[in-house]
Amino acid sequence: MNSTDEKDISKLCIHTITTKPWKIEEAAQHFSAAGVKGISVWRDALEGRNVKQTGKVLLEHDLSIVSLCRGGFFPSKDLNKRKSAIDDNRRAIDEAAELGAPLLVLVCGADPSQSLRDSGKQIQDGIGEIIPYASSAGIRLAIEPLHPMYADTRSAINTMKQANDMAEELNSPWVGVAVDVYHVWWDPFLEKEIKRCGENGHLMAFHICDWKVPTADMLLDRGLMGEGCIPVRQIRSWVETAGFTGFHEVEIFSTTHWKENQSEYLRKIIKAYKDHS
Ligand code: ZN
Repeated sequence: MNSTDEKDISKLCIHTITTKPWKIEEAAQHFSAAGVKGISVWRDALEGRNVKQTGKVLLEHDLSIVSLCRGGFFPSKDLNKRKSAIDDNRRAIDEAAELGAPLLVLVCGADPSQSLRDSGKQIQDGIGEIIPYASSAGIRLAIEPLHPMYADTRSAINTMKQANDMAEELNSPWVGVAVDVYHVWWDPFLEKEIKRCGENGHLMAFHICDWKVPTADMLLDRGLMGEGCIPVRQIRSWVETAGFTGFHEVEIFSTTHWKENQSEYLRKIIKAYKDHS
């Protein structure tokens, strides 16, 4: 037994998207058998299922249900689309409640036909509008800043500072921030903004993976921890110093890793978690 075998994996959570070829029930079975304690769920994984029943299956495998991804996509120049986004977010909150996930992660959205500032304003208004619904369902909302390469259509919130500013403006115990190393590792103010996030009680989630060099695809080429240039362990220490005690969610969109035998890949994930995060 080498020294890494001793490292505790009690905070390890794996996102269903990471092992996308597995159905959620298979993922639950494999994660649980490998000693993984947490699972995060992509909404697509619930398609065609009784959500409440699926939540029970996860609990039966002794998994903590950490979060549901994703809500958001608030901005649009078109008022009707903004209204339907609110409806969809309410449905996502319902799904989170049925599943038993305490947190809904928000990929906030952006409409390239208007300014980022206008999209930002619509995001804030949109979140503001769903807070009462989220609080009555007991579901917290985490604003996830996305890397600026996604500022065209996926998110007008691109830095921890922007996410912190918005969470503070909204000033609700139901709204916080998700820190995903893939999106924020490059930020020279990251340590300071993580500290600020923790001090304000807004640090609600921590997502890990790596940035491959070179990156072949903007969306589907994330690496396992250790495969790229993100100082995951250092960022983890900042997050923990800021008071975060929750799960470390491995969230890897990767056409390369999805082609692997998923059982072998799961072993690699656990090893990468132990060695590099
Ligand atoms: Zn994430």
